[in-house]
Amino acid sequence: MTMRDEFPVFKQLVYGKRLAYLDSAATAQKPQCVIDAVVNAYSNINGNVHRSMHYLSDQATQAFEATRIQVKNFINAKQSKECIFVRGTTEAINLVASSYGEQNVHPGDEILISGLEHHSNIIPWQMLCQKKDARLKVIPLLPNGELDLSRLDDLLTDKTKILAITYVSNALGTVTPLKKLIDRAHAKQAVVVVDGAQAVPHLKIDVQELNCDFFAFSSHKMYGPTGVGILYGKESLLNAMPPYQGGGEMMITVTHENTIYNEIPYKFEAGTPAIAEVIGLGRAIQFIEEVGFPFIKQQEQVLLHYATQKLQEFPEIKLIGTAAEKISVISFVMAGIHPHDIATIFDQYGVAVRGGRHCAMPLMDYFGLPATVRISFGLYNTMEDIEQMLHALKEVIRVFKKQRISKYQKEV
Ligand code: PMP
Repeated sequence: MTMRDEFPVFKQLVYGKRLAYLDSAATAQKPQCVIDAVVNAYSNINGNVHRSMHYLSDQATQAFEATRIQVKNFINAKQSKECIFVRGTTEAINLVASSYGEQNVHPGDEILISGLEHHSNIIPWQMLCQKKDARLKVIPLLPNGELDLSRLDDLLTDKTKILAITYVSNALGTVTPLKKLIDRAHAKQAVVVVDGAQAVPHLKIDVQELNCDFFAFSSHKMYGPTGVGILYGKESLLNAMPPYQGGGEMMITVTHENTIYNEIPYKFEAGTPAIAEVIGLGRAIQFIEEVGFPFIKQQEQVLLHYATQKLQEFPEIKLIGTAAEKISVISFVMAGIHPHDIATIFDQYGVAVRGGRHCAMPLMDYFGLPATVRISFGLYNTMEDIEQMLHALKEVIRVFKKQRISKYQKEV
């Protein structure tokens, strides 16, 4: 049995073709064990968590809280209460911006992000800056898609209250020098929020070693269900922050005049959470751990290098983002052919990629591009997927050459 066989989605043909799924950066496919865990949660232990005093509720609560312990171990948090269940990376970052930002960012303060960021790690900070009359600053890029750290001393100042930075770029695959940035930010007393959405499926995360203050990620990018993600935060910071939302479970007592809030993590988990999805995330973590990061890294690097080398053989192709340290993503453009057209033709050949701006419009602006084609890998990808993509690419070139010739013939 191969890794691909663990994922039922690959049993089907698309347009009669084998599916080469090269869009894991958008969302990863789910192994059967994760799907089974979700089905089992709904079939056998469906009850609300932390409230009702009956068997199903108790079973659901145990499974739900067991996932929190798995998450803690997975990212090496000191304590499981530092791991908050949210809807995803987007909500995790918004939570920090709203709650920590509300309390700690004041007029004249600065928030530092980078030119690589996903909209989820730009807009919440922009909103906060507008509200607080603070300033958003940006670490610029180098043409190869790495961060230009030459001006970091000017950018990271005593006014910097928050550094919000991605670990891995979703659009280019650049891995940022995270530990170094965290240490530099801490030297200025700034807290560091890490967007780990694209890192967690590929790299072993150790939040204690990184010493980041907050770390956000999404279950659906790491072979788990949609609708759930994690905000890790250091206990002392989370304890001092006001709740993000009010509702059930985030309180201890309520009168019409006042509310005493619950402790972390529950203070930040108002309302009924995505219970079955959290349980599914627990199974996804187990799955990743069984496969192991050494295998994942080795497999994905082989594919990354092979595909990069093959794409470079096409004179029509320009790779966007060639950082020395990059993982799991290749972005490219082709002269005279829009990325949407390439992705649409790829699709007809069973090759799923993303053609677009990758929720990173300022990054596209930096490269002066409307969009790129993005190939991204997961642990189920094989050389066969790359070959299928390369075959589709040759077809794109053939189709467009033919179109150009017939257009030329019409003109003359
Ligand atoms: N940051 C990065 C780097 C991402 O790739 C994504 C998802 N594309 C997000 C944030 C947002 O994640 P989600 O949509 O799961 O909240």
